[in-house]
Amino acid sequence: LPPEKRVGFAVVGLGRLSLEEILPAFGEAKMARPVALVSGSPDKAKLVAAQYGIAAEAIYGYGDWDRLKANPAVQAVYVVTPNALHREHVVAAAGAGKHVLCEKPMATSPDEARAMIEACAQAKVKLMIAYRCQYEPNNREVTKIARSGSLGRLRLIQAFNGQTSGLPEQWRLRKALAGGGALPDIGLYCLNGVRALTGEEPVSVTAQVHSTPDSPLFREVEESVVFTLTFPSGVIAQCGTSYGVHESRRLDVHTEGGALTLENAFAYRGQRLMIAHREGTRVQKDEPVIPPKNQFALELDHMAECILKDRRPRTPGEEGLQDQILMAAIYEAARSRAPVTV
Ligand code: NDP
Repeated sequence: LPPEKRVGFAVVGLGRLSLEEILPAFGEAKMARPVALVSGSPDKAKLVAAQYGIAAEAIYGYGDWDRLKANPAVQAVYVVTPNALHREHVVAAAGAGKHVLCEKPMATSPDEARAMIEACAQAKVKLMIAYRCQYEPNNREVTKIARSGSLGRLRLIQAFNGQTSGLPEQWRLRKALAGGGALPDIGLYCLNGVRALTGEEPVSVTAQVHSTPDSPLFREVEESVVFTLTFPSGVIAQCGTSYGVHESRRLDVHTEGGALTLENAFAYRGQRLMIAHREGTRVQKDEPVIPPKNQFALELDHMAECILKDRRPRTPGEEGLQDQILMAAIYEAARSRAPVTV
C-alpha cells in the first residue's frame, strides 16, 4: 500500500524491542507505518522520531492520551512496555479509540487480561497480542504438516526456550513489573506454540520450578520451569524454559510416522526445519527451503490488514488470556506438586 493508505501506528515504549526490531520492521511491512511515539524519555523520542520521519508533534508522554486521541493519523497503538504496564497502556489506548497491538505476555494475571479484553470490547477496538511466532513461516509450516496427518498421528511435542538473563537490575527480574521470570518472558513461546500447533487446549498441567539458590538474579522471579501439558487427543507436550542456560530455542514434534525439528524455533531469525519420515524401510530426511521473512513485519501487517478489512486478529486478546490462565495453572502445579486440571 502507498504510505498514506497504510495503517498508522503509535509505538509505546522505546526500549530494546521497539528500537532494535519493531521500528526497523516497519521498513519491511506493506500495510503499516509508524506515525507516533509514546515515551517517558523525550530526548530519546525526538531522536527516534527524526530517524523514522515521525512528526515532532506526534511524540507523546504516558499521560498524553487525550492528545494522542486527537491525532487521526494514529489508528493503532503498539504497547511495548514492561509486562505489568500493559494493562494500563492498553486500556488507555482503547479509551483513546485506537486499535491495540500488545506485546506478550499480555499481562501479569488472568484478571488483568480480562480487563483489557473488556476495555477494548467496550471501545469497539481490536485487540491483538503480539505472538510473532504464529506469523513466522517455519512455525506455520510445522503446524501445517503436523495437522495435515501426512506424518501420521501427532503424539509428543518437546519445546524449549532458554537463554541467560542479563543484568540483575533489569525490570524482567522484578516481580512487580515482570509478573514472573522465565515462564512469562520466554517459556510462553513454548506454551503458546504448542497450543497453536495442536489447535487444542490442554486439560491438565504438571510443572516444576527451580532457581539457583542464593543467586542475586532470582530473588523475586524464577530461573527455570519445566511443564507438561496434556491435550484432549492424548498429545503430550513437554516444555522447558530457563534464564540460566546457553541460548537454545528448539521445537521437536514426534508423530507416529515421523519427526519434525525446528531449530531456533522461537528466535527472531535463523529458523531451520528438518523433517524425518519413513518411506518403506528407509528413513527419508528433508530440509525444506522456506524463504526467511521478518516476523515482526508479518505481525504488523496482519494487524493492519485486520483493521483495514475489519477482521478478527489470529491472536486476539482471548489468546493472551488463555495463556495467562495456563501460566497460573503451571505455577499452581509447581507449588502444589500435583497435576492441575484446567
Ligand atoms: P526494555 O526494558 O528494553 O524497554 C521497555 C521500555 O518501556 C523502556 O525503554 C521505556 O521506554 C518503557 N517504560 C515505561 N515505563 C517503564 C518502567 N517503569 N521501567 C522500565 N521501562 C519502562 O524492554 P523490552 O523492549 O525488552 O520489552 C518490552 C515488552 O516487549 C515486554 O512486554 C516484553 O515481554 C516484550 N518483548 C517481546 C519480545 C518479542 O519477541 N515479541 C522480545 C522482547 C520483549 P521509554 O524510555 O520510551 O519510556
